[in-house]
Amino acid sequence: MKLRSFQMRILLWTWALLLVVLAVVFFYTTSIVGSELVRETERRSLNELETLKWLMENHRPFGSEEEFAGWVDAIGLRLGTRVTFIVGGRVVADSDVPYAELGGVEDHSTRPEVLAAMHSERGTDMRYSGTVHTDMLYVAQQVEAAAGMPAGVLRLAVPISKVNARLAMLRENFSWIFFVTLICAGVVSALMSRNMSRDITAFSELARAIGEGDYAKRLRALPGGEFKPLAQSVNAMAQSIERNVRVIEDQKGQLQAVFDGMREGVMTIDTEGRIESYNGALDEMFNLPATTVGRTPIEVTRRLEIQDLADRLLADREVSEGGVQIDLLDSRTVEVSGVPFFDYKGVRKVILVFYDITEMKRSEKGLKDFVANASHQLRTPLTSIKGYSETLLDNPPATPEGGRQFLEIILKNADHMDKVISSMLALARSEQVGEALALAPVSGRESMDRAVADVTPWAGERNITLRSRTPESEMLVMAEPDGLLHVFHNLLNNAVKYSPEGGVITVSAEDDGESIVFCVEDQGPGISREHSIKVFERFYRVDENTIDGSGSSGLGLAICRRIVRNFDGEIWHDGYGEDIRGARFCFRLNKPA
Ligand code: ADP
Repeated sequence: MKLRSFQMRILLWTWALLLVVLAVVFFYTTSIVGSELVRETERRSLNELETLKWLMENHRPFGSEEEFAGWVDAIGLRLGTRVTFIVGGRVVADSDVPYAELGGVEDHSTRPEVLAAMHSERGTDMRYSGTVHTDMLYVAQQVEAAAGMPAGVLRLAVPISKVNARLAMLRENFSWIFFVTLICAGVVSALMSRNMSRDITAFSELARAIGEGDYAKRLRALPGGEFKPLAQSVNAMAQSIERNVRVIEDQKGQLQAVFDGMREGVMTIDTEGRIESYNGALDEMFNLPATTVGRTPIEVTRRLEIQDLADRLLADREVSEGGVQIDLLDSRTVEVSGVPFFDYKGVRKVILVFYDITEMKRSEKGLKDFVANASHQLRTPLTSIKGYSETLLDNPPATPEGGRQFLEIILKNADHMDKVISSMLALARSEQVGEALALAPVSGRESMDRAVADVTPWAGERNITLRSRTPESEMLVMAEPDGLLHVFHNLLNNAVKYSPEGGVITVSAEDDGESIVFCVEDQGPGISREHSIKVFERFYRVDENTIDGSGSSGLGLAICRRIVRNFDGEIWHDGYGEDIRGARFCFRLNKPA
């Protein structure tokens, strides 16, 4: 048990208190008992003295002083007390001194008790006696002349060592009581303080556990007495701490999930301008090093604009937001916006959010190109229609035949415009449908046969032969029936359109296990490598292949690519084999799982 421990202190305090109380009681009691004993002895001695006086007064007259001294000796012996008779200061008889030596005894008239007795009949005194070497109580009484003796003072000397012995015994008993009480108090206080210190230890363990994050800990065994409400309060406090911490942890988890799941990059910067935290999206954007935290934005992004923005937001208290747009080396465009915030200490920090706006810029540009191309596509036939209509009105041809020719040109241009607009709508639709499309197993054979049957009459007009080279099966693929038919139509129409008279068009299909690859091959002019990818872009046409009056819009293959992509497939041109003379367009679609 340590000296400073709670138990030890209670024990020491109890002992100290007992010590003081018992000491006071002890001294008070012993002094009262002591003086009471002295008074009692004094009273008894006076009584004895009175009896002695009576005995002396009623004694027959003594023959001589010696006889009287003998009588005094006998009385003293019986009483066990020193008896002295003093006449005018001279000791006439003394029970402790033989008669022969009385002459050598000093004059007793100056003894306080003798003086007092001579003046006021009685006297007492207590002092150390050099004769018998002990504290003595002296009581003296004036005696009239009697029994043949002159008047004098009769004195009794009682040793008060008896009183002291009784007091000593009292003290000893008291010491034992004192000792036993101290031991008992020690045991009782040790027991009590052990209980108390067990309760206090439980409290401190609970506080430590909560401090270390074990919020579910409670005081299971509730102590009694005054500690009970305290324990209940501590438990209630622990419960509310646990509840609040759980709420904070939940919120932190949610924020962390938002932070990590954001598509935008996020970076927080401390007041020193050093990176405090960042999320995965930012890491992907800039491929940040592992030691990013604690470094400055320019060190890890190598972009001065970002550093400037952060510095400005940190330094200028008036600025409440800011932003910059930067082009990264990999041709992506990122917009950075920043806002200052204050942490719990009121320190100004900055949060930067990085938006990847590449896609947005690209579609903006795509939209601009689309509008330009579409208006160009429509303006050419429209100009033609307008020109011929004006001519018809202003200078009508002389013959009905001439007028008919003009009207035919107008109709052809209107047809072309109709086709361009229909194609644009088809493209828009296929782009809009996009990934929301519900794919289902569709028979590739059925779509292919139907498209071939549809173009056969037109091909027959130009002596073009259609051949097919396909497996026997249904060729099920994951698609949507109308879209798949549209792709076959488009590729077959182009093949017929660009095939020479009497040419051969081969439609083939190949099952490679997971998917089926369909190809349409013709013997036309083909497509050179430089155009092989671009032909799938909107409004792209290969000028040297364009057939006058064919009403080409350059949207057919773009629509095909969109549809095939919607089916999770791919489309390409690969007409560069050894036996291939013309174009060969292929697309791959997944088989049902
Ligand atoms: P269009 O609707 O004008 O046919 P496409 O997108 O289908 O537009 O075709 C784009 C361009 O690709 C056409 O202008 C044409 O020059 C070229 N092309 C398409 N198919 C063939 C083919 N089978 N043979 C040669 N050139 C072709």
